[in-house]
Amino acid sequence: MSDDAIRIEGLRKTYAGGKQALKGIDLNVPQGSIFGLLGPNGAGKSTLINILAGLVVKSAGKVSIWGWDQDRNPRQSRASIGVMPQELNLDPFFTPRGALEVQAGLYGVPKRDRRTEEILELVGLEDKAEAYARTLSGGMRRRLLLGKALVHHPHILVLDEPTAGVDIELRQMLWRNVRRLNRERGMTIILTTHYLEEAEEMCDEIAIINHGEVAARDSTVNLLGNIDAKTMVITPEDMPEVLPEAPGIKAERRDGGLIALSYKARETSAEDVLTLVRERGIRLRDVRTEQADLEDVFLELTRSRPAA
Ligand code: ADP
Ligand code: MG
Repeated sequence: MSDDAIRIEGLRKTYAGGKQALKGIDLNVPQGSIFGLLGPNGAGKSTLINILAGLVVKSAGKVSIWGWDQDRNPRQSRASIGVMPQELNLDPFFTPRGALEVQAGLYGVPKRDRRTEEILELVGLEDKAEAYARTLSGGMRRRLLLGKALVHHPHILVLDEPTAGVDIELRQMLWRNVRRLNRERGMTIILTTHYLEEAEEMCDEIAIINHGEVAARDSTVNLLGNIDAKTMVITPEDMPEVLPEAPGIKAERRDGGLIALSYKARETSAEDVLTLVRERGIRLRDVRTEQADLEDVFLELTRSRPAA
């Protein structure tokens, strides 16, 4: 097979009622990567994921999963992928152990090949193995959904907005586990998010989806490194009378004794900005850089490069 875990060609989805959620997606996801699908709400990310998962029927196009054509080899393609859905749909009458066993049964995993205990431990639910799902917290349910996605030992793990509305502890635990599955088992990971920072931190490659189309696709470094507008926010020991400005560096006072310095990364380096600050004799108590948000990214991308 090719080196792609997923290959998508001309994928379209029009929902009953006429909503065109996907308008011809071409996308490949390399084996072994952590791949981010980044896009605002309503972009079509879940539609794409749910087609991969076999939960939504595509209107047109070709999807191959781990080399298996989804239409010609539905069983093999389904066995190659595990999906943690965005919706928290769990049967309230199952315990985590029961839910994992049932799921393994659905995928035809023989009893001797089941790793229920190992998965319970991986998602941190070993203490809750016998608790009914309805008594689990939102975070625990999400972890159980991750466990369910893993029962059949898929090559590819897909996470649809895994951290939307979860607390920071669970978020970090999820990311630790995802990185481990990627590094130790070579699992290909696809995740959707509408947080730029999350995509930037986690992913090797990113596709930006907007209005059912791929707006851009590149390595994380190339894609987000291209974003030109940067802001450095400094906290001076004493607020200077004259703000540190120079050609290419604009300064603005912010509440709380802060100064925001904006510049274009292609023309000015962070070092240039810091040099200017030092030249003006400003002593720093704190420095941080500010991320462009997703809207800025879209603006940048549509201005600076043709749509992919
Ligand atoms: P995302 O996951 O990026 O937020 P979705 O794939 O959920 O986007 O939705 C893409 C578009 O398709 C949205 O306009 C949404 O309202 C619409 N949509 C999603 N699911 C359905 C459905 N079952 N029936 C009709 N329209 C839908
Ligand atoms: Mg979604």
